[in-house]
Amino acid sequence: MSIRRCKSFVVYPLSNFPLGEVAEVVCISSLDLKLRLKSIGVIEGTLLEVVYQDPTGERMVIKINETRIALDKDILKHVLVRPLKTSYETLRELVRLDHLTGLLTRQFAENLLKRELANPPYCLVLADIDNFKKFNDTFGHQAGDQVLKEVAQIVKNNLRKTDLAVRWGGEEFAIFLKNTSIELGRSIAERIRKAVANHVVWWQGKALKVTLSLGVCGSPPVRPLEVILEITDKALYQAKNSGKNLVSVCEG
Ligand code: GH3
Ligand code: MG
Ligand code: MG
Repeated sequence: MSIRRCKSFVVYPLSNFPLGEVAEVVCISSLDLKLRLKSIGVIEGTLLEVVYQDPTGERMVIKINETRIALDKDILKHVLVRPLKTSYETLRELVRLDHLTGLLTRQFAENLLKRELANPPYCLVLADIDNFKKFNDTFGHQAGDQVLKEVAQIVKNNLRKTDLAVRWGGEEFAIFLKNTSIELGRSIAERIRKAVANHVVWWQGKALKVTLSLGVCGSPPVRPLEVILEITDKALYQAKNSGKNLVSVCEG
């Protein structure tokens, strides 16, 4: 049996599967074999790890939970599996992406941002949901989470692939716009503000209206991340102080 590409993942015959990798059984190709393997706990959907390969390639030992089972190559080639993420890949994703919003995490993004500051022109935007606490207090934490998810999605939908969208804090986002003048940065921030203000979050039959305040800072001059964050935060503060649901651009 050869390697086959399914709709969204690649499946391999178990006989070709690398040592130490974790896989899910996707298909067992004959009914007879299905019954034999079922009696030893291998069915479609079983998760297994390849723990030993005979140097001759004739046998393989797989581990299911804590049970080890030796199987012959004749059988292995009729069992199609798909690779699952290794724990390293899963950990890397956890560090990179905020699990609620799917945006980059602050700890992952900080290093990226520091590097990007060497390539002006760019804009940094800090965006904070207005009166977010009231969603939690009135409708519960899950409603607040839903608001966060939908606002994050709107932010992402209004950016290019090359821009960076980061969950900076609880209900605050940092947006890094590459190769962007301050004028363009302002208009992108304004587009995001309008998109959020025009959006309705439906929660248990109720329409929740959400707004964002945004501070925008551009380059040059090239400044350290801490400084540009401080200036952008001042612009955000100004947007909040001037009535919220506004974009404010920093001076200098
Ligand atoms: P402002 O317009 O001045 O920004 O007011 P605000 O209510 O948005 O800001 P405030 O800082 O008073 O409240 C933010 C709240 O966000 C407090 C915190 O409990 C909540 N929060 C932070 N992270 C999360 C989260 O992941 N999920 C939910 N549901 N709430 C969160
Ligand atoms: Mg807020
Ligand atoms: Mg805040």
